[in-house]
Amino acid sequence: MAQRTFSIIKPDAVKNGHAAAVLADIEKAGFKIVTIRKQSISKEQAQGFYYVHKERPFFGELCNFMSSGPIFLMVLEKENAIADLRKLMGATNPASAEEGTIRKKYAKSIGENAIHGSDAEETASFEIGYWFAGYELI
Ligand code: ATP
Ligand code: MG
Repeated sequence: MAQRTFSIIKPDAVKNGHAAAVLADIEKAGFKIVTIRKQSISKEQAQGFYYVHKERPFFGELCNFMSSGPIFLMVLEKENAIADLRKLMGATNPASAEEGTIRKKYAKSIGENAIHGSDAEETASFEIGYWFAGYELI
């Protein structure tokens, strides 16, 4: 059965002109783009999205970065979408990401790592609902 996940093309990848290449990799890997929206987000919106990390030392830096420029918010669908997107993204730190992964190809540092992907079913439904209304997901 098809599963949905939530993804963001982060400000570094958009600024560096990699958004279309990242989308092409996602489509080549068999994901359907259910919906996609380009926008900038506020620091407060980033803080709400990443609230699970609020006690981490990098929280401020992360929220400043995520609100530093336009991003693409999207919902993706395929069988096993959550795990398969995580695999396609590569490790959080691009220095240890596998060859061919999006972070290996397009990211420079652990803080600015090109793409976000939900890490579990529960987080995927929270994240999809945080950014999109039901009528946008038909
Ligand atoms: P994401 O949630 O963005 O898909 P992830 O699940 O691979 O990434 P998390 O542990 O959830 O990694 O961390 C969320 C984000 O916080 C990372 O993608 C990265 O941008 C940032 N981050 C994580 N660890 C660090 C760190 N040590 N220093 C700076 N930023 C970090
Ligand atoms: Mg995460």
